[in-house]
Amino acid sequence: MSNAWEQQVRRVVPYTPGEQPDFPDMIKLNTNENPYPPAPGVQKAIQEMEAEPLRLYPAPGADALVDALAEYHKVKKEQVFVGVGSDDVLAMAFLTFFNSEKPILFPDITYSFYDVWADLFRIPFQRQPLDQELSLRPEDYFGENGGVVFPNPNAPTGLLLPLTAVEEIVSHNQDVVVIVDEAYIDFGGESALPLVSKYENLLVVRTFSKSRSMAGLRIGYAIGSEKLIKYLNDAKYSFNSYTMNRPSLELGTAALADESYFCEMTEKIIATRERAKKELAELGFCFGDSKANFIFAMHPKVNAEELFLALKEKHIFVRYFKKPRIDQYLRITIGTDEQMDQLFAFLKEYLQKRGVL
Ligand SMILES: *Cc1c(COP(=O)(O)O)cnc(C)c1O
Repeated sequence: MSNAWEQQVRRVVPYTPGEQPDFPDMIKLNTNENPYPPAPGVQKAIQEMEAEPLRLYPAPGADALVDALAEYHKVKKEQVFVGVGSDDVLAMAFLTFFNSEKPILFPDITYSFYDVWADLFRIPFQRQPLDQELSLRPEDYFGENGGVVFPNPNAPTGLLLPLTAVEEIVSHNQDVVVIVDEAYIDFGGESALPLVSKYENLLVVRTFSKSRSMAGLRIGYAIGSEKLIKYLNDAKYSFNSYTMNRPSLELGTAALADESYFCEMTEKIIATRERAKKELAELGFCFGDSKANFIFAMHPKVNAEELFLALKEKHIFVRYFKKPRIDQYLRITIGTDEQMDQLFAFLKEYLQKRGVL
């Protein structure tokens, strides 16, 4: 029996983030972080940073970062919204745009924060099943709904929808807001950003956490029509005017300035991912053609949870979801070549010991 006050509590089942273990010898491939450091300009900006200005509030409009992003993406600054990681941006977008009696639509296998925000904000939702190959079928999103959200590439599958398919979804949903979560688009996908000028109702969400190696700083952003961004800002200023702290504004801007480092690191991760596909295939793993910085793989002859625990024992951390349809898969983040080699060596030994290789 709960107390009277407890019956009025807004109860939620929270999102479960990946573990953040801390062992000196660990190989951490469980939360899709980037194995390489942020751009050298970020380190330099940290060294030059002064404590004194911290007595002042940051710019409420996050101007330096918004301007830098607008220039980077060749859009107006009125088309850019920034937040404390894309989780903050997505949460604010759910709160602002998904305000219908009709259910919003997202895939059954996808980023597991979507249903949590929907529950938190009392937004009705419907999960549209991915097909047998875990691909998203655009036509499943053509029916009446209160909004659409999906990651592209999808997580945790890593599978990319071609831009033509993304546009089909947007063009069939011009009466609602469509959010495309591009957390992993920099690892070889084609962005929906060019569609923003054509569709007033399309919001593209990005993050500095993966491709820019800055998960610890918490920077995310969205690009959309001026109207969409105005509505987002109205909600944000009704909630917390100063979401972006001074260091984030400064360091985020510094990260954007070094395009060649950014390209070099993302290309390196893509190369390691493609090599990992060959290695994993040789070991008998099955997986889709990931365009993200992780591979979602299963082995027909080994139990995923057992393998996950065996890896963990060796301080090799990957992500395991004990959920229907995907409980025989492991999501493996792409690390450095050295880290991946250690993973492959362990897997080879594990499979040999079990006589399945
Ligand atoms: C990692 C991730 C996010 C959140 O990233 P932030 O660190 O909050 O910017 C959002 N969506 C998807 C699909 C992700 O994988």
